[in-house]
Amino acid sequence: MSTLSSRENWSRRAALLRPSGDNFIDGRYVAAQAHGRFDSINPSNGQLLAQVARSQESDVDLAVNRSLQAWRDRRWRGLAPRQRMDVLMRWADLVEQNTEELALLETLDMGKPINDVLGIDLPEVTRTLRYFAECIDKMEGSVTSTAPGALHLVLHEPLGVVGAITPWNYPLLMAVWKLAPILAAGNCVVLKPAEQAPLSCTRLAALFMEAGGPAGVFNLVNGLGPEAGRALALHPDVVKLSFTGSTTVGKLLLTYAGQSNMKRVALETGGKSPQVFLPDLYDLDAAVDRAIGGIFDNAGQVCNAGSRLLVHRDIHDAFVARFTSRAPQLYRPGDPLDPATTLGPLVSQAHRLKVQRCIERGIAEGARAVVMGEALSGHLEQGAFLAPTLFVDADNRMSIAQDEIFGPVATVIPFTNDDEAIALANDSIYGLAASVWTRDLNRSHRFVRDLEAGVVWVNCFGDGDMTQPFGGYKQSGNSRDKHMMSLMSYTQTKSAWMATT
Ligand code: NAD
Repeated sequence: MSTLSSRENWSRRAALLRPSGDNFIDGRYVAAQAHGRFDSINPSNGQLLAQVARSQESDVDLAVNRSLQAWRDRRWRGLAPRQRMDVLMRWADLVEQNTEELALLETLDMGKPINDVLGIDLPEVTRTLRYFAECIDKMEGSVTSTAPGALHLVLHEPLGVVGAITPWNYPLLMAVWKLAPILAAGNCVVLKPAEQAPLSCTRLAALFMEAGGPAGVFNLVNGLGPEAGRALALHPDVVKLSFTGSTTVGKLLLTYAGQSNMKRVALETGGKSPQVFLPDLYDLDAAVDRAIGGIFDNAGQVCNAGSRLLVHRDIHDAFVARFTSRAPQLYRPGDPLDPATTLGPLVSQAHRLKVQRCIERGIAEGARAVVMGEALSGHLEQGAFLAPTLFVDADNRMSIAQDEIFGPVATVIPFTNDDEAIALANDSIYGLAASVWTRDLNRSHRFVRDLEAGVVWVNCFGDGDMTQPFGGYKQSGNSRDKHMMSLMSYTQTKSAWMATT
């Protein structure tokens, strides 16, 4: 648990950090073989944080080979389930014991407010590790009904060396949603974290060893997507690739699989989630507060961000008025090391420019942007901050309603009846999540049935626990994180048909 409570204390602690940006292969930190490096920059002030290994094909090959060796000699899958469970449980304990350091690394690396990392990300990381640890000895095969003369066993076995490629928006959590079930199922893994925020995952790899994980079972390569990521995705000894990131890169990974060894590809990709507000909702003020959180949490850098607000015409004006007056109270930009900050910078200046271009395009297409921000001064002027924006007078065909902006930008679109709301909600290439706000149970059931999304929330947004399979319909992906079904997706089925006499 954290003992630091003020910005000054966190800043002092941050100044003492010496993060490693090396690869972690076969139980130790190693530099990239060609000694290439790139800078990791703190997006809240533009300062250099660390230099990170810029791995190439040969580094990835080394990591995969070491994982393959660990797979072949069964040093992990050969352990009793309880032994693997103990390692994952100790790993979760170590994450808790190193909370301050991991939280600081995330905050400095990608700009997320420290209180969000402490209150949301890290507890979710330990919950994920413990959930999948607990699942290990609950996995069961089956014996099917056969005629006399045969015994038929259906067995679930791990796959081999799995590659994981993850994004920067929840660096540790997105990685652990992959690592925990991959390892729980008995596989070995090579992780390539996002180049924008690799430092917390790099630390996590060493904690796996401290927890008693055998060397070589979990290897990590840092580097750029088109270099290290591509090499991992093309590697012939990687039997499955588990990816969270953009839809564009997800499509590339499918082609890499076809060009290499037809590896399985699990995709958790982009979103443009609609939230539908019906006029009979319970409490407009409370619903608007959740709508604000649904888009401005993590500065809108959330795959399931509720970026399309479909609001019934009867409540549209009240909704917009409440939204624009409350949002600046709830989301104040500031130093992410300040526990009072609720809105950090975007992950980089490059990403801020991309989001700004999306805003300019929305204005050019005829929508009206309501900007709800205040100027930042002092050292934060160098940061990648962007004021929250709400678009009104918009329609669903505009780019601001179709493209994933991945920043603090929401678009309000009015509708007149349920059919229209459902048609608008489904008019998207994405289908990650959706919500409906109504007090009418029958109405909500219809929305649950008709909304094309992997997750549908009723009278809430973003809620869930480890029993919730998380993933998308359509171009939001083809897989599910969390839940036992994620664990099973890292296994393959063997049929053992035994003739008996
Ligand atoms: P991104 O696709 O740019 O990068 C994701 C990862 O892919 C990074 O590690 C990157 O290095 C790697 N990569 C990039 N090009 C590659 C290539 N040619 N070959 C192999 N790997 C490559 O995404 P991002 O900007 O890091 O993250 C934001 C995206 O992630 C958004 O689209 C968001 O919706 C999505 N996301 C989805 C979920 C989900 O559960 N569906 C969760 C979080 C984020």
